[in-house]
Parts: sequence; C-alpha cells; structure tokens
Amino acid sequence: VLKDVKGQVEFRNVTFGYNPDKLIIHDFSARALPGQKIAIVGPTGAGKSTIVNLLMRFYELNGGEIAIDGVPIHEIPRENVHEQFCMVLQDTWLFEGTIKENIVFNKQGVTDADVKNVCKAVGIDHFIRTLTYGYDTVLNEQVNLSAGQKQLITIARALIANAPLLILDEATSSVDTRTELLIQEAMDRLMAGRTSFVIAHRLSTIKNADIILVMKDGDIIESGNHLEL
Ligand code: ATP
Ligand code: MG
Repeated sequence: VLKDVKGQVEFRNVTFGYNPDKLIIHDFSARALPGQKIAIVGPTGAGKSTIVNLLMRFYELNGGEIAIDGVPIHEIPRENVHEQFCMVLQDTWLFEGTIKENIVFNKQGVTDADVKNVCKAVGIDHFIRTLTYGYDTVLNEQVNLSAGQKQLITIARALIANAPLLILDEATSSVDTRTELLIQEAMDRLMAGRTSFVIAHRLSTIKNADIILVMKDGDIIESGNHLEL
C-alpha cells in the first residue's frame, strides 16, 4: 500500500478507451516530480478529464502503466489510491447536509476549529457566519449559494482532506472579480507543496505551471513550461 507519498507521478505509454475497440488515449507518457504543478490544456474532448480519471484509477488501462512514487497504481487497492488525492472537480459537488458536514466529508478526526480555520484560509468564513445557522446550515434548494461560494466550499473540503496529490478541474463558471481572487488564492494554497494536476482554463494557472501538457485527440501535441511554448 501507499504511505507517506512524496508525490512522484509517472504515466508510461498509457493507452485507454472507455470502449476497448475505440482507444481515446494512444501512447501517453508524462512525469511529475514531487510538488510540481502540471497544467493540462486542450480543446473539448481532447482527453483531459480522462487522464485524471485514469490517475485516480476510476478505470483500468488497456496498456502502459501509471505509477505513484514508483508503485504501479493497478497494484494498489483503489481505496488506498483515492486516499492520496484531494480533488476539486469542474462541477462542484455538494450533498444535502450541513456546510460543516460538506467540508469534513469523509475525513476522520476533524474538529470544528479545523473547519473554521480552512474556511478562514479560503475566505469563506465571513460569509458562512452571516447565515442564521452558520456552519450548521443545511445545504438544499432553499440555501442559495453562488457558484463561487460553492467552489470555495469544495476547496475547503480539499484542504481538510490534506492528501499529498491534487486534482483540480478548474471551473469555467463566471464569478465576480473579488470571488475570482479568493478562488485563485485558495487554489494556490491548495497547490502549495502538492503534486498537482490542473485542467487549466485560467491563464495565471498556466503561467505558473512547471509543465504544460497540450492535448488534442488523446495525445500530447506539445509540452513545456509557458516560456518554452
Ligand atoms: P472537456 O474540455 O469538454 O471537459 P476533455 O478534454 O476533458 O473535454 P474527456 O472527457 O476526457 O475530454 O473526453 C475524451 C473523449 O472520451 C471524448 O471523445 C468523450 O466523448 C469520450 N468520453 C468521455 N467520457 C466517456 C465515458 N464515460 N464513456 C465513453 N466515452 C467517454
Ligand atoms: Mg473534461
């Protein structure tokens, strides 16, 4: 099993198709060193989400290998692979429960103070305290959170999870300038010290990436940092 992961991630000649008769990823190789930020860019349907799905071991490969700290993930129990990741996905996922429960999610040993601290760190504590029931507010159709507030709550959840690897599928929903800044800062905090795979739409994310992978039709057509490309 994986323990105390340093965060080296390697894709070696990965091929994959949701249907094995129709390969979508052809011969994908890439490597991230511990703490590096990998931005994945490319047009819709290029295979960006597929690559992060494979890294999370949501599907089995048709060929090649993905390794974390040198250990092929197909040799590691799925649960143990999932434990290594913080995730912030494109469609913010919240469930019907309190704000606190949504942030703690399945993390053990989290105190109220921990929850409050991450919310302060991502800049959403102030808003939560304006709600009548604060952190105990149950999220449902009656509580109308903005797209930006939802994103900040899922970023707080990812920070609480505190796993060594990060998958970030940047949302494209438009938010106001102030919220945009909060989200940007919260994401920077989340990426710090973690090997991060970011499906990037923001120019600032792309500029700050160590490696940019430009994908098209399941292949990497260019790679390098933003000065090289
Ligand atoms: P976007 O920018 O729109 O999110 P993407 O680069 O993330 O696009 P993927 O979602 O990885 O693209 O899709 C790559 C290809 O795989 C597409 O042709 C898509 O139709 C197909 N695909 C994605 N998910 C599935 C699935 N669950 N079953 C079958 N085919 C799928
Ligand atoms: Mg996608």
